[in-house]
Order: sequence, then C-alpha cells, then structure tokens
Amino acid sequence: SPYTVSSAPEFRQEESTAVEEKLMVAVRIRPLSTNETGRSLYVVDSKTIVIEETEKERDDVLRQKRTGQKRYAFDVVFDEDSTQDEVYEKTTKSLVKDILVGFNATVFAYGATGSGKTHTMVGHGGETGIMVRAISDLFDIVSKNAYRYTVKMSYLEIYNENIRDLLNPASGFLELREDTSRNRNIQVTGLSEVVVVSIDEVMGLLHQGNRQRTVEPTGVNKTSSRSHALLSVTVCKASRTATAVRQGRLFMIDLAGSERASHTKNRGKRLKEGAHINRSLLALGNCINALSGGTNPRFVNYRDSKLTRLLRESLSGNCRTVMIAHVSSAASHKDETRNTLIYAARASGISHKVERNVLNVSFQVNQYRSVISDLRNEISRLRTK
Ligand code: ADP
Ligand code: MG
Repeated sequence: SPYTVSSAPEFRQEESTAVEEKLMVAVRIRPLSTNETGRSLYVVDSKTIVIEETEKERDDVLRQKRTGQKRYAFDVVFDEDSTQDEVYEKTTKSLVKDILVGFNATVFAYGATGSGKTHTMVGHGGETGIMVRAISDLFDIVSKNAYRYTVKMSYLEIYNENIRDLLNPASGFLELREDTSRNRNIQVTGLSEVVVVSIDEVMGLLHQGNRQRTVEPTGVNKTSSRSHALLSVTVCKASRTATAVRQGRLFMIDLAGSERASHTKNRGKRLKEGAHINRSLLALGNCINALSGGTNPRFVNYRDSKLTRLLRESLSGNCRTVMIAHVSSAASHKDETRNTLIYAARASGISHKVERNVLNVSFQVNQYRSVISDLRNEISRLRTK
C-alpha cells in the first residue's frame, strides 16, 4: 500500500534523544557614525570585548577586581568591520538547515535604539539582513531536494502589548491562544500564513510588512523603537495524503529598543506601570534572569507578556536559539552598551533541551492520526461515489 507508515525508523525512537544546548550569544558592534567620537569598548579577539570602567562603575559590578577594565566573553563578537554576510553565516545559516531536518529555531536581535538591530535583521538598501538571507538559503536547499516542501511565512508586530498582523493589518488586534497539543503550543488567532515560492515574493511581503510597522508619534518615517517585529518561517514536507507534515519553524525577531527596560531598577517590580516601560522586554529580561539562575523552566513566568508567551518554546523548550546583542562603541552610549553586555552575558548562561520534531513520539503519533483521518475521509468519499 502506498500509505505504509511503519517504514519510518524514527517512529521507534524514544524521546530521550534530546540534547542539552546552550543559548548562543553573539554581540555585534556598529560603526561610529560621523558625529560620534571616542570609544567605550575594545574587541580583544573574536569572542572577547573589554569595556573601560570608572571607579564608581567597578564598585557596582566588580567589587574585588579593580583593573579598570571589565572583560566579557561571548560565543562570537562581530566588530565594526563585520559584513551582513558574515553575521548571517555565523549566526543563522546553520539554523536554516536545522529546521529542514525537524528542529525549531529562533534568532533575535537585542539592543538599545540605534544600536543596529534593524540593520542586522532587515537590512538597509542593498545590504539585506538576516531575514531575506535565511529565506533565500532555504529556497536554495529546498529547490535542490527531491522532497516536496511548502514554505509558509507570517509577520507580526507587538506594540503596547497589542499584536498586529503586518501582512494583513486590517485584521486588527490579534489574540494568543494555546492549542490542544500536549505542549500547549501558543498560536496567534487569525494570523495570516502566506505560502511563498520565490525570494522576490518574500522581499515584496517583507517590504509591505515593514511599511505597516508602527511609527513613533513624534518620529518622521522611522519605525517605533517600542515595537517588536516577529517573522516566522515554517517548512512543511508534503505527505502522501493532503496532510502537510511540519518539519520546523524559524523565528527571526527585531526587538524593541532595550533602553527603557535595561535598568536593573526596572526589572521585576514595575511591570504594571505600563506606558513608558516595554512590558514585553521587561518580561523577557525576567525570564532570562530566572532561566540563567537555574530556575526550573516550569516555574519561569512566561505569562507576563505577549512576547514571552510567544517565545516560551524558544527559551525553554524544543528550539535552537541565537541572541544577537547590538552595541555602539561610541563613548556617549557607554551606559547602554554596558547594560546590553551585562544582559547578554546573563543570557549566555541559559541552556535547555533540544530535540528534533521527527524524533518526538507524540508529535509523530499526532501526524499519523491525521494521515489516518485523511484516509478515512477518502474511503467514505469513494464509497459515496
Ligand atoms: P536599531 O534598529 O537598533 O534602532 P538601526 O539598525 O536602525 O538601529 O541602526 C541605526 C543606524 O545605524 C542606521 O542608520 C543604520 O543604517 C546604521 N547602522 C547600524 N548598524 C550598522 C552597521 N553594522 N554598519 C553600517 N551602518 C549601521
Ligand atoms: Mg530598529
């Protein structure tokens, strides 16, 4: 029979194939702009940054070691000369291959307003960012493959804790709900998912979506520093029946400016004040704090914001995650740079278990259930003919 399923070797695997993985943390330093002078930090090597600290700052962070310098180590540091291609290759390229073989993945850009997040994720002019490069790579791999894949994308914004569909803004504010699976995965009700087949089509949609991003009331033609943009790309492999089998999903996220949320005073207690603090970023900081402190992931509070509800799986569950922290080397941005490096260093303490979707027994069982139900429908259709 063409519908034999027992030949899939993965089906007999146990769920213990999950491996413990660290969140990957990269730091990108943007070049000084023409009116900036003086530097606050130095790149030591491809993994280490040194920041000069005053006596007072050292008292805050490092009580014993009074060298006048604070070293920070990350998985990778991109200096001012790094190219869009280099950043893509070292952070996201491997994630694209991962989602094709059944992993979920997330890459997010963190940093103060003006530190280069949108440059990295979306790009400017001909310097395309990670979003386009990743989908373009995905199409390249898929087109060479004998299997038939479907690539779907959705693009949403979180602004003032409201979710808007950037590909269909007419649908208004959208709500989150948990699906009925065992993992109670989060879904955005009514969010459009567009099947895309060419990179030109993707670029058109992204361009259209970016134009829909909320503009700061006082700003001219500049997206709000308080809006988060989340692009999701899902790959499905066509099965023998009409049912598509989900392989993996890649989230690519351009976060709001971290400046209002990064001060330690704000963390935790002021979530309810709303308006001038970004609730989603604060909640993300709280989750990162809790996770890096070794808290049992089950007791981390993801419910505090839309962003953390959407990222729950990325931070705690079955997902490879890369954080790209953005800083300016300008002396005038030293406080924000320090805050971002401290935050990123904390995030690099997070680890969680990651496994392939195809090796997950309950995931498989659900997929075979839907194959069976498709076949039943087909049989009854044939009978009534
Ligand atoms: P953010 O999204 O974090 O607010 P942007 O990406 O808009 O910051 O960057 C602010 C400005 O700096 C933009 O004019 C952008 O073109 C420029 N810029 C940022 N990063 C780089 C970089 N790596 N190389 C060149 N210019 C950059
Ligand atoms: Mg931006």
